[in-house]
Amino acid sequence: MSHCSTSNEQQFASDNYAGICPEALAAMVEANSGHATAYGEDPWTAKAADAFRELFEMDCDVFFVFNGTAANSLALASLCQSYHSVICTQSAHVETDECGAPEFFSNGSKLLTAPSVDGKLTADAIRALATSRTDIHFPRPKVATITQSTETGRVYTPAEVATLAETTRQHGLHLHMDGARFFNAVASLGCMPAEITWKSGVDVLCCGGTKNGMAIGETVVFFDRKLALDFDYRCKQAGQLASKMRFLSSPWVGLLQTGAWERNARHANACARRLRDAVNGVTGATLMFPVEANAVFLLTSEQNLAALRERGWRFYTFIGGGARFMFAWDSDFERVDQLAADIRDIMQ
Ligand SMILES: *Cc1c(COP(=O)(O)O)cnc(C)c1O
Repeated sequence: MSHCSTSNEQQFASDNYAGICPEALAAMVEANSGHATAYGEDPWTAKAADAFRELFEMDCDVFFVFNGTAANSLALASLCQSYHSVICTQSAHVETDECGAPEFFSNGSKLLTAPSVDGKLTADAIRALATSRTDIHFPRPKVATITQSTETGRVYTPAEVATLAETTRQHGLHLHMDGARFFNAVASLGCMPAEITWKSGVDVLCCGGTKNGMAIGETVVFFDRKLALDFDYRCKQAGQLASKMRFLSSPWVGLLQTGAWERNARHANACARRLRDAVNGVTGATLMFPVEANAVFLLTSEQNLAALRERGWRFYTFIGGGARFMFAWDSDFERVDQLAADIRDIMQ
């Protein structure tokens, strides 16, 4: 069976299956006129950086990179020396899905993983890992990283982030946020982006553009600007300085200035709730996590999973063995309803 497809029939295996949203594409097309200075010295990049400063209501330092793995690993590397360590959950993307890039780019900072039932990091877990060893033989904890929204589709409230930040501060740690789906969390909470980040004690955010509707691009936002020292050199050395930067930055102008980021995230979240509501009460499957962002995880038998695949549905099961469905800016309600109907049919 081929897994290569550009069929118009939507699948919900990943929010990265979606294309580029109109607002991001229009801005790229607009940026594609004439010549512009290279390596980020262009007006689009300045505009995009300003749009982030406006979004976060603060004078933050902003860097545009190609993807989330680069954003996370370079951000963490900038917060650590090689003899430091980073606290995260067992299910964190930095641990499970970045091929050791955080360790590689930090020249060896070790990830210390905390078990987590629902994908969230807790103050107790941070405290336990931050204090488990204080001797010279163990890498010294320097950062805690949380994912917002989590790999399990959950959302940290501002109060929860503030509690974690307070704990990190007590132990001399920085707080990093992997925001590959940051906008889904903001839309879910209905709060200001500032509230869930620097106002709650986040030092550095990796803000995801790709899953929100861009072709390519994540932004590293330093709320504590001291931590951004030489980050431009780090990006360049890692192969993350786009020469034609305007095509990485202009879609951000499109997303941020039109409010598409919020519409896209709201729509994706609404699709997840729609699926959840439609399969509510199905006897052969259970919801693994509360649906708070754009993901739905269903735990069911191998037989049911196979039957669902048989009907042409694609999904991943790498988190806890359940079927993961992720929704995007363009997910079609009718297609969500088809999925729900098949789930009900198989698992009723
Ligand atoms: C998608 C994702 C990323 C970024 O992954 P890339 O493929 O490197 O762009 C980072 N963190 C989380 C939690 C993700 O889901």
